[in-house]
Amino acid sequence: MPNDCIFCQIVAGDIPSKTVYEDESVLAFLDVNPLAPGHTLVISKDHHETLDDLPDDAAADLFSVLHGLTPAVETAVDADASNVAFNNGGAAGQEVPHVHGHIIPRFDGDGGHPIHAIAGDRPDLSDEELDAIADDIRDGR
Ligand code: 5GP
Ligand code: ZN
Repeated sequence: MPNDCIFCQIVAGDIPSKTVYEDESVLAFLDVNPLAPGHTLVISKDHHETLDDLPDDAAADLFSVLHGLTPAVETAVDADASNVAFNNGGAAGQEVPHVHGHIIPRFDGDGGHPIHAIAGDRPDLSDEELDAIADDIRDGR
């Protein structure tokens, strides 16, 4: 693990965290600077920077915990809903370079925004451009 990775230090127990779930490959803990009560981070214990770097089995483990934990987080803080998302890489706003999913509880009238609000200006794409992008994504799998 990189010595300077905050989340690896949390996994190692060198930095304290308010742990809400742990198994052999996944750890979940409260965000130290929460966007809402119950804001939870779910991380792979092994150090991988982004989703693109995460092996399939670790990705499946991570998603399984996100799936199981989200209703527990919502119930714990009496939330009406949640946003579940990854900042996947620096250009997307990822600050800690150790893959982690956010569970952010949401409340009716909380003044927040949907996930559509996070990107920049919307592109104006023709049908042909959309077809080309869809082809490239299919080819890249
Ligand atoms: P990112 O922008 O990388 O997706 O989000 C990183 C998140 O990690 C931020 O929401 C930040 O508040 C949280 N964070 C950063 N350092 C620590 C820490 O030492 N402990 C905990 N619990 N959360 C942290
Ligand atoms: Zn790490």
